Amino acid sequence: MKIGFIGLGNMGSPMAANLVAAGHDVTGFDLVTDCPTGVLKAATAVEAALAADVVITMLPNGAILRAVAADIIPAMSKGAAFVDCSTVDVESARAVADDAVGAGLLAVDAPVSGGIGGASAGTLTFMAGGSDAAFAKAQPLFDIMGQKAVHCGPSGNGQAAKICNNMILGATMIATCEAFALADKLGLERQSMFDVVSTSSGYSWTMNAYCPAPGIGPQSPADNDYKPGFASELMLKDLRLSQQAAETVDADTPMGKRATELYTSFVEDEGGLGSDFSAMLPRFEKKGRG
Ligand code: NAD
Repeated sequence: MKIGFIGLGNMGSPMAANLVAAGHDVTGFDLVTDCPTGVLKAATAVEAALAADVVITMLPNGAILRAVAADIIPAMSKGAAFVDCSTVDVESARAVADDAVGAGLLAVDAPVSGGIGGASAGTLTFMAGGSDAAFAKAQPLFDIMGQKAVHCGPSGNGQAAKICNNMILGATMIATCEAFALADKLGLERQSMFDVVSTSSGYSWTMNAYCPAPGIGPQSPADNDYKPGFASELMLKDLRLSQQAAETVDADTPMGKRATELYTSFVEDEGGLGSDFSAMLPRFEKKGRG
């Protein structure tokens, strides 16, 4: 396929490289970064999108996505697919999809989980929203860039799935970290805490697969001085998107709200910027109830 790839940052660059390695013809554009080897460099986003069968975007936020979409949708060939893999607000995802479909294109919102490691290894999970035809057109590319793609329903539902998942993740990480810090103060060894919880009803992905305590459980960013991994500011971005969405539809999300508040303080005032989101554990260690 002829693929246009716009946004070649930490995630987009290895994703585009995997498409090239699978034999696709990829033309890329980024305002700042260079194209990875094998990706033909376009001078503008429109040039990358012209004549493409599929355009993939991997951009920082909804405002930038809307601006790029407004530029490229009129330039794309009818029947081509606009596949946005960025994490953005549900409203922007739906607005861009409406514009694309209105212009005779197929549209998929397909945010990912799996991080930079998953993007490089081609093992991302895609959560996709859009018509059956749009999903079918994008699926062979999801199979190259990832190990799993779930069609979650119409446009915007991929973003909805992503922020609901990450709202659970943020709240669960906080719950796991505060429980470790309490256990420390009660004199319970961390290894004992892990051995019990990881095989009891408090188990979770954050405990079992990504344990925030260094030296305990499988390898995780905690074992590498809390270098991300999944940075706290990216978790905060997703939590904020969850609260923005909850406000739009009047959903009561008290745990998501509190998680957003805690990650806001952590990132903005408590030195969490640039640390993995599991660095909430040393943050709790230092704090008392006051
Ligand atoms: P990044 O900042 O490394 O990459 C974004 C790229 O977009 C940058 O290279 C930037 O120059 C480019 N860009 C910005 N405006 C542009 C424009 N108008 N035209 C062309 N290029 C433009 O970010 P990233 O880590 O690659 O993340 C991309 C998206 O994926 C984000 O929405 C993020 O939330 C999501 N995501 C990231 C991770 C992760 O672990 N990094 C995991 C899952 C999802």
